[in-house]
Amino acid sequence: MFSAVVHYVVSVRNGTGMYESSKSHDNFALREPYDRIVRCLGFRFNDTLFSGESMQVSRSKGRKNKYPRIQYNYESVDEPGMFYAGTVTHSLDFRKAAGGFIHGFRYTVRALHHLLEKRNHNVPWPFRSGHVTDLVPFIIKRINEASGPYQMFGRLCDVIALRGDTFDYFEEFPSNLIYAFEQYTGSAVSEIIVVSLEYGANFSAPEADPFRVGRATGEPADAARSNFLHPVFYYYKQLPSKSAMKARAPWETLPRPDRLHHTVEDFLTHWDMPYSHVLPLRRFLEHCTGRDLRQFFAEDCLRMAFTHSVLPESCRRQFELSETTEEEGVRVDQMKYLSDGVKSESCPKKDSAHFSLPLSSASLGVAVH
Ligand SMILES: Cc1cc2nc3c(=O)[nH]c(=O)nc-3n(C[C@H](O)[C@H](O)[C@H](O)COP(=O)(O)OP(=O)(O)OC[C@H]3O[C@@H](n4cnc5c(N)ncnc54)[C@H](O)[C@@H]3O)c2cc1C
Repeated sequence: MFSAVVHYVVSVRNGTGMYESSKSHDNFALREPYDRIVRCLGFRFNDTLFSGESMQVSRSKGRKNKYPRIQYNYESVDEPGMFYAGTVTHSLDFRKAAGGFIHGFRYTVRALHHLLEKRNHNVPWPFRSGHVTDLVPFIIKRINEASGPYQMFGRLCDVIALRGDTFDYFEEFPSNLIYAFEQYTGSAVSEIIVVSLEYGANFSAPEADPFRVGRATGEPADAARSNFLHPVFYYYKQLPSKSAMKARAPWETLPRPDRLHHTVEDFLTHWDMPYSHVLPLRRFLEHCTGRDLRQFFAEDCLRMAFTHSVLPESCRRQFELSETTEEEGVRVDQMKYLSDGVKSESCPKKDSAHFSLPLSSASLGVAVH
């Protein structure tokens, strides 16, 4: 074994002549010649369009000075009714999220579109609805696939309106406008869960070593100390007020919720492991909703229907749905299954509160209890 540094003699053309360098490593930037070098070190906002007497566009303060002043709904502070889209909206998330770049502002532009649809045409912000027993798989799918909250972390959040037996799911709403949710979406809400993706406070800092010991945790009990991007759930019995929003500390995404849950960070950003991610989330959601959110396979529900006096809520719902939607033939098949197999099994001890069923990996981890 040996280690060696290869030394090259470099000859690179520049504007004035030849540049000679020796004893360099072999992966330096100037190892290939360039015809033109474009200095691209930033931009200045060209506001000549607004420089007439009737229109004045002021700038943000400090390092955000190259951006025009805008409100959280992307509206000009100076000119009501004028909205900004694109990189010039980056003052809202400067050095925080990706709103200055295409991969970030493609989501804020979509949010702006929804805001303008509501404002100008009274079109409500789109949402999907589900039964509360489907909340866990719904959220697990979303946090593992959502691209808006992933790129615009802490700035665009999903909002779940809890409505008793059902929930409405709103995607990629600007977190800074939560206090006026009804005004901007057209949907009245009270009890909500906000789903946000966030880095830990100590994720990066000047001269911080990103490979330091203890930089990451895989322990669900330490989830609140996660540093890498991870889902955070804010439960509010009532929408946070405007004054609570204003009183936030600079590092806080949202005001103090009634309940808070962090899903532990994951190196692969896959938050679908049964014990580390799904189980703690389900327990949190059960705590918030006061509902049994366990999910079971149809076979297990059927078996329990014949061996227990009280069924888990998701099983009851399966049977309710099958009563209303399935053909009679399917139910006959179920009875046949019973007579073939289940009858001969010994009945598990009846327990209306907890069922001791084996964990199945094919169940998306939701059947953990
Ligand atoms: C070298 C480089 C690499 C990049 N790489 C990436 C990347 O990999 N991924 C990514 O997501 N982002 C990347 N970006 C950033 C991304 O390109 C910009 O954020 C994006 O192009 C900005 O789009 P925009 O429409 O907001 O502004 P612009 O593309 O700047 O569009 C503004 C338009 O307005 C016009 N205009 C300005 N003033 C006036 C006026 N007074 N009247 C009429 N028209 C006017 C301009 O001519 C221009 O056409 C990169 C940027 C650079 C410079």
